Amino acid sequence: MSNDLLDDLYRELILDHYKQPRNNVTLPAANCAADGSNPLCGDQIQITLTLTGEKVEQIGFTGSGCAISQASASMMTEFVQGQSVIDALDGIAAFQTMMTTSAPTNAVGFDDIDALIGVSKFPARVKCASLGWKTLEQALSTNNGVEVTTE
Ligand code: ZN
Repeated sequence: MSNDLLDDLYRELILDHYKQPRNNVTLPAANCAADGSNPLCGDQIQITLTLTGEKVEQIGFTGSGCAISQASASMMTEFVQGQSVIDALDGIAAFQTMMTTSAPTNAVGFDDIDALIGVSKFPARVKCASLGWKTLEQALSTNNGVEVTTE
C-alpha cells in the first residue's frame, strides 16, 4: 500500500468521525464533567461521563472546532466507553506518547486512533488532537459524586 493511499484512508476515517461524531451527547445523569478549549484554533470540547465504581459506564461529548479536534474526541469516546479509569488514563498517556514520538502505540483499542499519528508532525495540530484527551483527564479528576445539571 502506498503512503498516499494510507493517508487517504486515514483522512477518510478522520472525516467520518468529524461528520458523524460518536457519543455526541450531553449525559443528563453524568457524575463527571469538564470543558476544554484550544484558543489557538478555536476548538471547544465538553465532556460528560458516568462513572460507576471504577468503570466509565457512559461518556458523551459535544463541541465545535476543526475536524482534527472533533474526530479525535469522537475516537476517544469510543475507546474509553466501558473501560476502567486506569485503562482510560493509560489510553490518555498512550495518546500523548504517540503525539510526542510519532510512533504507533499498538495500544489495545487504538486501531482508529492510530489514524491521528500524522498529526504528530504538526505541533499546532497536536493541541487540536489532544484537546479531547486532556478534557477527559480533567473530567475523570472531577469525580466527586456531584450530579451535573444541564440546561
Ligand atoms: Zn483545531
